[in-house]
Amino acid sequence: MQNHDESEHLAMLRDTLRRFIDKEMPRKLVRQWDRDIHFPRDVHDKLVALGLTGLTVAEEYGGTGRDITAMIVVIEELSSRSMSVASGYIQSACYAALNIAEVASEEQKRSLLPRVANEGLMVAYGFSEPDVGADIASVRTTARREGDTVIVNGSKRFCSGAAISEYIYAIVRTGPVEDRYHNLSILLIPPDAPGVTLESQETLGLKGGGTYDVSFNEVVIPAANIVGGDEGWNKGWPKVVGAGLDIEKIEVAAMALGIARAAIDDAWDYSQQRLQFGKPICTIQSIRHMLAEAKTRWEACRLMTYNAARLVDLQRPATVETSMAKLFVCDTARDIVLSCQQVMGAYGYVGDFDMERYVRDILVMPILGGSSAIQKNNIANRLKLPR
Ligand SMILES: Cc1cc2nc3c(=O)[nH]c(=O)nc-3n(C[C@H](O)[C@H](O)[C@H](O)COP(=O)(O)OP(=O)(O)OC[C@H]3O[C@@H](n4cnc5c(N)ncnc54)[C@H](O)[C@@H]3O)c2cc1C
Repeated sequence: MQNHDESEHLAMLRDTLRRFIDKEMPRKLVRQWDRDIHFPRDVHDKLVALGLTGLTVAEEYGGTGRDITAMIVVIEELSSRSMSVASGYIQSACYAALNIAEVASEEQKRSLLPRVANEGLMVAYGFSEPDVGADIASVRTTARREGDTVIVNGSKRFCSGAAISEYIYAIVRTGPVEDRYHNLSILLIPPDAPGVTLESQETLGLKGGGTYDVSFNEVVIPAANIVGGDEGWNKGWPKVVGAGLDIEKIEVAAMALGIARAAIDDAWDYSQQRLQFGKPICTIQSIRHMLAEAKTRWEACRLMTYNAARLVDLQRPATVETSMAKLFVCDTARDIVLSCQQVMGAYGYVGDFDMERYVRDILVMPILGGSSAIQKNNIANRLKLPR
């Protein structure tokens, strides 16, 4: 599908990515990565060499300057082929670069941001816990200070990419629960530090970098790993709910957009090759309608995602628009993929084709990064609908 209104630099970026994907991410290999829960670091390194992890890093820290719309193009394109590669890119260009740039100390920015741009440094999100889902402020993992160190105890759940990351970017309780939004801090915890245990969790989709239960047993890290430095101690909550949250919503929308586009393209081609009753199934009206509707809905998803990205790049308030994009795109993309699966009949359900993977991957999009219900709350609250 075309993106008629795209600026020249975005069109060139998209073109480069499509050629890169054809060469470095062939379908057969991508299926294997998914089966093996494999993160292809060599492909990630090549994305770094192309300068793509520098798209979210300011020039003074070794990047090319923050360009959120370009980042969304990269996520959409990579997600149209492989969530293993797309997830790694997000862990680097988004989780690491955007958070560190926004909430870390100057010293941390100087030490970590060039590594994102030049080495593709990745972090994994350690927000969820066995008893903590949407209500992140209720985390039970604790940390205490001892001199120049911090000692961490507790556990995190659904920590995607923990084993392939340099750090787990974890929110922990660092004082009494006097006020649930105070006494929280964000720490950078190396997953290979003594006392950290990773246990793989089986997921339906999003398999690339693996998803883990992580336990911390008297894990000692330097106090220098408190995000924001000493001033960040007990001041973690505003860092979690800052402008980065708006961007995270459209990162997830871009993943959904990429997966849905791949599903439409595959179903579109398949419908022309599959013959039944002596003619291609694309001549059957119900199939034509499913595909026409999928394309139409996808176009609405595209417009919402890129409009939200444009507002973020213009630094306009975009909390409502990013929530609307997250809600609409993820729910609609899920419906699109399921209808494309119907177009392919039984072949949408078997491992010889990519459609079954699209289905597994898309189902989590309305859950991640604030569920659809949470986005509806945000929209109604931000638009001041009286309770
Ligand atoms: C494959 C995968 C990868 C993940 N990766 C990570 C990761 O890397 N790091 C990380 O920290 N987490 C990760 N998660 C966790 C994900 O972010 C959580 O699933 C999400 O935060 C929601 O939490 P929950 O699933 O426990 O649902 P809960 O919060 O328990 O919610 C259950 C249901 O109640 C609804 N609900 C809850 N509260 C409200 C409310 N106030 N109003 C309306 N409805 C509500 C929800 O919408 C949902 O339908 C991952 C999850 C999966 C499946």
